[in-house]
Amino acid sequence: MRVVFLTLIFPLILLNCGSSRPAMGSGETVVHSIPNPNQKNPAKNLILMIGDGMGLTQITAGIYDNNNFLNFEKFPVTGLMKTHSYDNLVTDSAASGTAMACGVKTYNNGVGVDKDGIPVKSILEEAEEKEMMTGIVVTSALVNATPASFMAHQKLRAFMEPIAEEIANSGVDFLVGGGKKYFDRRASDERNLSKEMEDKGYQVEDFISNQRIQDVKINHGKKFVYFTADDDPLTKITGRDYLPQASKMGAEFLKSNSENGFFMMIEGSQIDLGGHATNFKYVMSELKDFDETIKQVLKFAEEDGETLVIVTADHETGGLAIKEGSKLKKIKSDFIYGRHTGTMVPVFAYGPGSENFTGIFDNTELYRKMKAALAMDNRN
Ligand code: MG
Ligand code: ZN
Repeated sequence: MRVVFLTLIFPLILLNCGSSRPAMGSGETVVHSIPNPNQKNPAKNLILMIGDGMGLTQITAGIYDNNNFLNFEKFPVTGLMKTHSYDNLVTDSAASGTAMACGVKTYNNGVGVDKDGIPVKSILEEAEEKEMMTGIVVTSALVNATPASFMAHQKLRAFMEPIAEEIANSGVDFLVGGGKKYFDRRASDERNLSKEMEDKGYQVEDFISNQRIQDVKINHGKKFVYFTADDDPLTKITGRDYLPQASKMGAEFLKSNSENGFFMMIEGSQIDLGGHATNFKYVMSELKDFDETIKQVLKFAEEDGETLVIVTADHETGGLAIKEGSKLKKIKSDFIYGRHTGTMVPVFAYGPGSENFTGIFDNTELYRKMKAALAMDNRN
């Protein structure tokens, strides 16, 4: 019976495969991963790239929507990461950001603190202690949960003015993102943190000057901050244009100013907002902007040869699905709701130490893997 069944079905399967191929179009079907420069620890520099709300389906849809290729396919090493928080299988960006930045599980809404609300040092802060350069480039406000997890310690992510104060005191060398009003028009006090940062040796620039960040002449003797918006920056669709360029500028700035290497976090913050809005076009435009940033960062890392690049997400947003009837560049999709989901997220790695970012691991392990790759404990 089984033999008969198979002999009937097999030719159908083969026929089906044969006929579906041409419909795949002319997109790149071969994976062109770039070979790792060397597999030896330690890496001198680390660039962590976080796609907020970027699950595997967002990436898959992005690849098909882009005629079957995105720069994600260049990574030689991939893994999977669990994202649950201390108190919830479905995390928020604060708890997952804290897990990646500080290596501890915390409750949803906690920023840079453990489950009891006690501050925990982040990898960025440890990098600074080791006299590495540090940088943050995001497409949200700088006080938002993901970047805040690396620079601040607050019991609630909603404490944005206290977070801004911590950022102003953090000593981070290269800062790009929105949230200007939390620094210079504060409701809780009269302080002007932008001015205070200037006094502390920052070159302070912003979107009001009409000078795009890519046109700013950076003073290499100073730290650098560029506020891209009063709160959250524009979406890619409505004209935001800085993430790939600012990321490249940041990496080059940090490299040229550092003997001891650097740690940089780049966030594609608004992939998540597209998911919350259950707006597929929004998700795709943000994902492609993030992919263009990956392209720039990989180019930098390939030339540099001492930089480990990690790309991952804090969680998935929207429960996105690719539906039957989809075609290349014409994806039929649906979201289950405009909230986060609890699925594992992919991890992509390139560069020295990348081989340890494979398999299934917890988001708190990402912190330990990054520190091991940088041999952080053995630095000075
Ligand atoms: Mg975020
Ligand atoms: Zn979200």
